Amino acid sequence: MNREMTSSFLLLTFAICKLIIAVGLNVGPSELLRIGAIDVDGHFTVHPSDLASVSSDFGMLKSPEEPLAVLHPSSAEDVARLVRTAYGSATAFPVSARGHGHSINGQAAAGRNGVVVEMNHGVTGTPKPLVRPDEMYVDVWGGELWVDVLKKTLEHGLAPKSWTDYLYLTVGGTLSNAGISGQAFHHGPQISNVLELDVVTGKGEVMRCSEEENTRLFHGVLGGLGQFGIITRARISLEPAPQRVRWIRVLYSSFKVFTEDQEYLISMHGQLKFDYVEGFVIVDEGLVNNWRSSFFSPRNPVKISSVSSNGSVLYCLEITKNYHDSDSEIVDQEVEILMKKLNFIPTSVFTTDLQYVDFLDRVHKAELKLRSKNLWEVPHPWLNLFVPKSRISDFDKGVFKGILGNKTSGPILIYPMNKDKWDERSSAVTPDEEVFYLVALLRSALTDGEETQKLEYLKDQNRRILEFCEQAKINVKQYLPHHATQEEWVAHFGDKWDRFRSLKAEFDPRHILATGQRIFQNPSLSLFPPSSSSSSAASW
Ligand code: FAD
Repeated sequence: MNREMTSSFLLLTFAICKLIIAVGLNVGPSELLRIGAIDVDGHFTVHPSDLASVSSDFGMLKSPEEPLAVLHPSSAEDVARLVRTAYGSATAFPVSARGHGHSINGQAAAGRNGVVVEMNHGVTGTPKPLVRPDEMYVDVWGGELWVDVLKKTLEHGLAPKSWTDYLYLTVGGTLSNAGISGQAFHHGPQISNVLELDVVTGKGEVMRCSEEENTRLFHGVLGGLGQFGIITRARISLEPAPQRVRWIRVLYSSFKVFTEDQEYLISMHGQLKFDYVEGFVIVDEGLVNNWRSSFFSPRNPVKISSVSSNGSVLYCLEITKNYHDSDSEIVDQEVEILMKKLNFIPTSVFTTDLQYVDFLDRVHKAELKLRSKNLWEVPHPWLNLFVPKSRISDFDKGVFKGILGNKTSGPILIYPMNKDKWDERSSAVTPDEEVFYLVALLRSALTDGEETQKLEYLKDQNRRILEFCEQAKINVKQYLPHHATQEEWVAHFGDKWDRFRSLKAEFDPRHILATGQRIFQNPSLSLFPPSSSSSSAASW
């Protein structure tokens, strides 16, 4: 054994001793040594830098709590072996899948008695995306980044239909929430575009599920916040990939006209329609320089004052039309026809044209810019809300024109979606109306900035926004939810709570999985003994 291996081994033994103490003496050292590197094809690590790297997330809001160990799996069976051991031990210990750690509130953490499964940084051996052009789908490992799924499918001239704005997120991570962007009005969220999953349940079984097989598990896992299983494979539906994108932004000073146009655009589903509909709120000129504004290049500057907002709030509609090179003449005509129906400020049209892949990967460019200025790894007290259409103008008055004041510290997205594109059987929660809006307050906090940029100030604003919605009886639902008590979770799930709880009892009875979401009580308090489990392992 060389020096590095010896020190790794010692660290591992130390962590295992801590784990034995943490989970109770009934867990035998040999059992834990099995988790600790011997029986998996991937590997476990307790290296301080690995523990540190999985113990904070994009939000940077909580003090990091290091887990006992990290598993870098090379297969679903590696994940299953770990979960079976956790499930079979006298006092179950937490196992959390971590995608790319882009959560805000520690949702992918496992706590100090748990083990984190690094799904994205598996070892060589995790299956590569497998594209089936004849069947129009791709099979991907749960820890695959969407950007890599895109690259692989483009080799076949194909691409997934529904996206997130940012592609450095994992398939398992976004499918555990919903996965939304400007295509969702037409294609539904990413969870509406999945054909089949392989899932390691909280009993350590590898189960295949789809619309036809293990249906309850399939729908439960989609939007299920990691509560019923770790997604190790997803089969994603594909379409022929467009080659280019006409990307247009137009401004509005009237919220009513802005939302009427957005709602009109998302009601179109025929051939002649925009392919992506989003929007954002501009309460200060700072937005032009913020991290989503790579659109406005120095050659294409935006002078907000030039569209005479008189210091009041402006709204920017963002739309795209996809096309193939061979259709470049038709696209001009189509865009012209579609734009004629809209009522934006006539002098406020900003257009750019780029490759499809560059459009989808647009936020990454902004990330690189912010990283170079040390402005990426800062606290992000993000708040994402689904607001019912019938109350969006009250939200505008109370929040955009009220609570926010005239400084935002980051982009504020707003765009509507059609509920009929969401499968009610999934675990994702949306308001009870046919059309609802995403309002995403994507703010960054600075320690050395103005008062309005400080973390406490922004957190307090978030609290006031939620309080305002409650008092005004605007039935918002949090997207990427974070709740402090089980009562709040029950209210969040509403009608879906009973099914959610019964799925938990069936597929993760010892509350091992995704404890960082804090929906169910800590596993060390979960005392019912494990029942014998039959493994229906699926391979692919
Ligand atoms: P993690 O944060 O690592 O995990 C999230 C949760 O899922 C955890 O509870 C974890 O335990 C669980 N999990 C992770 N992998 C698996 C798995 N394989 N099986 C089961 N459970 C798993 N979201 C959108 O919908 N649209 C957007 O446009 C969008 N843009 C974003 C832009 C940025 C810059 C960032 C930071 C986030 C954005 N998000 C967006 C939010 C994103 O969808 C969530 O952060 C999501 O959690 C995915 O991140 P992740 O892959 O890093 O998962």
